[in-house]
Amino acid sequence: MKRVYNFSAGPAVLPEEVLKEAQAEMLDYRGTGMSVMEMSHRSKAYQTIIDEAEADLRTLLSIPENYKVMFMQGGAHLQFSMVPMNFMKNGVADYIVTGQWAKRAYQEAQKYGTANKIATSEDKTFSYIPDVSNLPISENADYVYICENNTIYGTKYWNLPNTKGKNLVADLSSCFLSEPIDVQKYAYLYAGAQKNVGPAGVVIGIIRDDMVTEDVMPFTPTMCKFTTYTENGSMYNTPPCYCIYICGKVFKWLLNMGGLKEMERRNREKAAILYDFLDNSKLFKGTVVKEDRSIMNVPFITGDLDMDAKFIAESKAAGFENLKGHRSVGGMRASIYNAMPKEGVEALVAFMEKFEKSVLK
Ligand SMILES: *Cc1c(COP(=O)(O)O)cnc(C)c1O
Repeated sequence: MKRVYNFSAGPAVLPEEVLKEAQAEMLDYRGTGMSVMEMSHRSKAYQTIIDEAEADLRTLLSIPENYKVMFMQGGAHLQFSMVPMNFMKNGVADYIVTGQWAKRAYQEAQKYGTANKIATSEDKTFSYIPDVSNLPISENADYVYICENNTIYGTKYWNLPNTKGKNLVADLSSCFLSEPIDVQKYAYLYAGAQKNVGPAGVVIGIIRDDMVTEDVMPFTPTMCKFTTYTENGSMYNTPPCYCIYICGKVFKWLLNMGGLKEMERRNREKAAILYDFLDNSKLFKGTVVKEDRSIMNVPFITGDLDMDAKFIAESKAAGFENLKGHRSVGGMRASIYNAMPKEGVEALVAFMEKFEKSVLK
């Protein structure tokens, strides 16, 4: 068996320990004689799995009592609709458009009410985060929406916007559990699991109590109402059982490692190795302004499309997978999520150094 260094933006690398544990429990989960995949979600064994997952997540993020945790489906994309359907009471929301996912959320919201684009970085291919300290927040905005880490472009909000008292709603899909956060700064935050947390198929939402109401748009499908999840322990219908089980294992892996402060230390260390190299390279360069750089997704280019293609081909042959940038931007992107070991980043940098020497000689 040979495992590669997988720099995929998502679905992405998972901790090897977690995969091995799941493998060991595959045919007989702790004496039940069946796999978690085959188990009733109403069984005692499964209830314990989902309860522990929620409890461990609450510990990791120090989630306050007045916030509820939801396990949902439909990917981040369904959230783009659920958010306006549930939260647009006045029919108005403000969106900050810092990349493709924020843009899709903004476009989707227009179906349900007035969505205002109050800031964007599209003028420079989303290579920075706009100044969000004093934005023209709409008087009657139900919420202000951001995508906190822009997976495709490699930017991250290191300061949350000044919402002038309005509810902050955030898509954290590609930075969730990469560092501690102050949950109380958000009215609602969500993350698709397949970036930093688990397999594709589950979306985790953390919602402040007062945001959960029956006062939603009248046509809102039952499965799109947040109350459907909060009132039924995320089990109104069959949840994505196996995904939640794997996420639960990842939560325990994070706790065992020392929690999110330690994870942040490791992530910063890994990102610094790659960015330092990029800043000193004569061939490669990062595409994002320094102060807004993501520590999860690192896009870079050579400035020459043929050279980019040569690098992608040769890196793949050397065991570095999925370094091709998103199809909308080209170039390269290394996603270095929690489960990417430091050795993987060091090996990548060593390979890039060697490649650079060979083509610049
Ligand atoms: C990947 C990603 C999405 C899209 O997720 P789907 O699960 O494919 O809907 C949305 N937002 C962010 C920040 C992402 O990284």
